[in-house]
Amino acid sequence: MAAAPRTVIEHCAIATVDAEDTEYASGHLVLAGDRIESLGAGPAPADLQNVVRRIDASGHLATPGLVNTHHHFYQWLTRGLATDHNLFDWLVALYPVWARIDEPMVHAAAQGSLAMMARGGVTTAMDHHYVFPRGSGDLSGAIVAAARDMGVRLTLARGSMDRGEQDGGLPPDFAVETLDQALTATEETVARHHDPSSDAMTQVAVAPCSPFSVSTELLRQSAGLARRLGVRLHTHGSETVEEEKYCHDQFGMGPTDYFESTGWLGEDVWMAHCVHMNDSDIAAFARTGTGVAHCPSSNARLAAGIARVPDLLAAGVPVGLGVDGTASNESGELHTELRNALLINRLGRHREAALTARQALRLGTHGGARVLGRAGEIGSLEAGKLADLVLWRIDTLAHSSIADPVAALVLGAPAPVTASFVGGRQIVENGRLLTADEHTIARTTRTEAQRLARIAAQN
Ligand SMILES: [Zn+2]
Repeated sequence: MAAAPRTVIEHCAIATVDAEDTEYASGHLVLAGDRIESLGAGPAPADLQNVVRRIDASGHLATPGLVNTHHHFYQWLTRGLATDHNLFDWLVALYPVWARIDEPMVHAAAQGSLAMMARGGVTTAMDHHYVFPRGSGDLSGAIVAAARDMGVRLTLARGSMDRGEQDGGLPPDFAVETLDQALTATEETVARHHDPSSDAMTQVAVAPCSPFSVSTELLRQSAGLARRLGVRLHTHGSETVEEEKYCHDQFGMGPTDYFESTGWLGEDVWMAHCVHMNDSDIAAFARTGTGVAHCPSSNARLAAGIARVPDLLAAGVPVGLGVDGTASNESGELHTELRNALLINRLGRHREAALTARQALRLGTHGGARVLGRAGEIGSLEAGKLADLVLWRIDTLAHSSIADPVAALVLGAPAPVTASFVGGRQIVENGRLLTADEHTIARTTRTEAQRLARIAAQN
């Protein structure tokens, strides 16, 4: 059998984010097929056969592709609204608009969200989609198609809500499903789209929205469903003081105890935010291996608070980074979250080393892969892993006087992406998507955002 064609990348700094945090001041990577075949210091061996492409990456830092662990693609159409609200008021303002989404809107929003992340170095995206208005079409299919066409790896967290206003929840009643509808549709989504293989482009998780929009029974049965199907579980947790109060009022316990009582702590679970956690909550996450998607910009935008990331990491909790939906983080970029995570966590408890630059990079790569259950195949640059990687340009005005390339990436201005690869396939070149046309997406998303605003105003 002929060897797979090889791509050689050399003369760049490399931050592998492997278990030892191995770095090379000047090194090389050899890609073969969809995998990293080898990497190391200095130039690639001169006698390599079947090299079809050789990239001189001088002036660049190579890192694993960024892994986003929490997002809501549909919100691309409702950016810049309710800009001065806390979470609950923001939800009440936006749910009536969100309840009018349909398949073309969701497809356009997914393209916008994915394009913005991909050109900023994201190679694995996730979409927590939980708004399924009656008659709105095949929303999960539209999201999966958008990611597949763009060549970005995706975890689709099939969300659900069954606690509308009449049951004491926040979403309007016409935007929620029944318990049975939610479970049946979720199981169908797993059957249609989940690929359990190590090189999967699409995986599906079971993801009821939050303690204040789903019934206890939906949480409990979702946990059972996910474990029966062998897929992961995701939801929002401990995001705000209001949520904490809601859980105490409704269930007589805090969010973490409530999750534990419904089968929602475990190494197959990750939760977005986890801002309001006491020491025993953190210990419960550590004991059970429950993961966290840290979303610093969204938490700041909604004045939710500062997650105790240094304490979570010290306890051994798996932590990744999340953009969160772009209605609460209008930039929609993950590479800027490396910097925001570092800065915000230093403000939290006034610790100058609360997060180091290397820890921030780890959150956005290996940490994310861990919480998505994919650390065996992505999240670090190691021989045998999938060739998901980014070349960041750090030799221009913005970064050239910073000697430490990881400090340049994390602390400096957003570094331009010269190339981004997913499974060995290049999807970005010089900041431009190779797999989709940004201008077309910009036009389509504007048209669909206006259509949604019109429909929502009529109702
Ligand atoms: Zn969210």
